[in-house]
Amino acid sequence: MVAVFYICAMTAFATSNPAAKIDYEVANQQPQTNLHQPFFRPLNGGNDFFIQRQPNQNANSVKKPNLSSVSAKDPASAKSHPGLINAALLASKYAKYIGNKFKGDDAIDAKGKFVIEPSQQNFVNEYNKCYGTNVSTLSGTNGFYCFSKRTIHLIPNAEFGTAFHESVHKASALVSVISNTAWLAEKDFAFDLNEGLTSFYTKDILESDYQVKNYIDGYATQRKKAAALIKNLGEDEVAKFYFQYNFMPLLSKFGITTIKGDMNNVLVSKLKSAF
Ligand SMILES: [Zn+2]
Repeated sequence: MVAVFYICAMTAFATSNPAAKIDYEVANQQPQTNLHQPFFRPLNGGNDFFIQRQPNQNANSVKKPNLSSVSAKDPASAKSHPGLINAALLASKYAKYIGNKFKGDDAIDAKGKFVIEPSQQNFVNEYNKCYGTNVSTLSGTNGFYCFSKRTIHLIPNAEFGTAFHESVHKASALVSVISNTAWLAEKDFAFDLNEGLTSFYTKDILESDYQVKNYIDGYATQRKKAAALIKNLGEDEVAKFYFQYNFMPLLSKFGITTIKGDMNNVLVSKLKSAF
């Protein structure tokens, strides 16, 4: 049996153009010596900014789909999985934090937003289009999430678990704020926190909500830290931070209750000390 390691990466192009702010996700089938290699590519320059998403307390009333016959190791299906994952997330224990995401053109199953590339070359081409890069190969990369286009791209033989993981990234608000200077100054921590929480929520939703037990990725270490963070700071507080970038409830755990200017520096600092 070949162990599967997912290697994720996030790029934040800090420019004045929101469309250029992207996040991506890659997954590897081979252990890599440099897990952070594609993480935070050299910036294009420009102004950093962040968007604070407002909390959305509207709980969804999506019926829980039946995933009893689904394995995380199943081949990803562009036909059946996007709608299934969309419903699974909107009916999950975190539905109230996901709010109105995954509706209309932002749905996982919206037209053209979930693509299993027909060939490895197509996959590489889409990657280059998303990031403005010119790589010729993406050895070991199973998928990425292109924030600027809101699209998930998977290699031809990607698995359901990878598709689900990418979809959780799409549900998170962190992808839109990670180019803030405070986060950029702590790239390794930002990577570990983002992937740890994404791994935690992916596994938690699959196991707790849907009894899909065989999800694995390469983030056991980060996931363990994320689980401890959630235990120490609160499920609700961390979920509001991760899914909505509503971080004052989290900062209140550190005794900070007043917003003074850009709070990202203190947020990063406090979270890093607790991670
Ligand atoms: Zn990831």
